[in-house]
Amino acid sequence: MQEATKIIHSIPVDPQTGSISVPIYQTATFVQEAPGVNKGFDYARSNNPTRQVLENLIAKLENGHRGLAFASGLAAIDTVLKLLKTGDEILAVDDLYGGAFRLFTQVYEKFGIKIRYVDTTEIQNVTEAISTRTKLVWLETPTNPTLKISDIKAISRIAHQYKALVVVDNTFASPALQRPLDLGADIVVHSATKYLGGHSDLIAGLLVARDETLGDRLKFLQNAAGNILAPFDSWLTIRGIETLPLRVEKQSRSGLKVAQFLLQSDLVDKVHYPGLPSHKNYELAKRQQKHFGGIISFSLKDDNAYSAVKFTQATKLFKLAESLGGVKSLVCHPASMTHKSTPVDIRRAAGIQDSLIRLSCGIEDAEDLIDDLDQALQLIHQKKYAVSFAN
Ligand SMILES: *Cc1c(COP(=O)(O)O)cnc(C)c1O
Repeated sequence: MQEATKIIHSIPVDPQTGSISVPIYQTATFVQEAPGVNKGFDYARSNNPTRQVLENLIAKLENGHRGLAFASGLAAIDTVLKLLKTGDEILAVDDLYGGAFRLFTQVYEKFGIKIRYVDTTEIQNVTEAISTRTKLVWLETPTNPTLKISDIKAISRIAHQYKALVVVDNTFASPALQRPLDLGADIVVHSATKYLGGHSDLIAGLLVARDETLGDRLKFLQNAAGNILAPFDSWLTIRGIETLPLRVEKQSRSGLKVAQFLLQSDLVDKVHYPGLPSHKNYELAKRQQKHFGGIISFSLKDDNAYSAVKFTQATKLFKLAESLGGVKSLVCHPASMTHKSTPVDIRRAAGIQDSLIRLSCGIEDAEDLIDDLDQALQLIHQKKYAVSFAN
């Protein structure tokens, strides 16, 4: 069965009523026939039928054993970190999502968990930094916002020699483009707020475990701490996922056209997009992903942060906002928005210049998106904002 068919028909018709849409079970508890005798549900923190449909759906899409749904992407990440104990180490990609960086360093380091950041696009960096203390190897690929690509298969092979688990934050690619578990990873995490939800109308997180033991352990941690997604938001996420392949295919087609447009513009300096042959890991991206996605980042020739900030205010269709992956195109300035909490030196070392601009293509037509970028580029160029932006 092909992908889109599989998704649509993995969502069950309600066996009680025939409802073609998944019912929203807005309940806290479930009446029992006798103590401990129930229909598989006892208390809605532990399990809820609407949430369970979503959890089974994401497990199927990622080819994993068990899916779990959380109140946010960070709540899913937090649950994975609770697998660790004092003295354990995480080896993480250096341009980690800002919120994950904050959680790692400002919350988990104080419990004696050590985090090492390396550029995982070079396998040698992983080989050199990994040790028997490494319990998790944390990858994002493509990364946010410089779209770096790491080799999930090769890194998983190395990690497993050290008995470390490989976690892939698959938010940027989504299962429509990339399936980390098929490539050897052990856990996939998602901010479902982005492509899976797809409409910028909810905050949600998902994770999928490769096998039963890991799935049970993560389920235990979720229930123990009560990090769950509410029934209505579970329903919205299911509805979003129904159109995931359609949206992501269009967003990827537009992403490539927009990247090509930026590449040939005299006013643009660097363009980061894994679908351009000039990208460092173009061949790997082609092998590892089905398409290249709808996110592009770039810097202006007029290389100062002030011009970049002005650019983000000059687009009309690309709305200035944090987040990505929705049906409406968004633009942001990572240095002052999504990556504000990442220390300047780490941010710059990871290639996030103050002048970098990130685009998330929505489902509008590519020609309109390009026209919008073109008029914004011309406007900024004419005004020549020479003032530099105080960081
Ligand atoms: C947004 C995002 C997160 C955090 O997800 P929330 O739903 O905002 O908590 C984690 N990882 C990546 C790559 C993200 O883009």
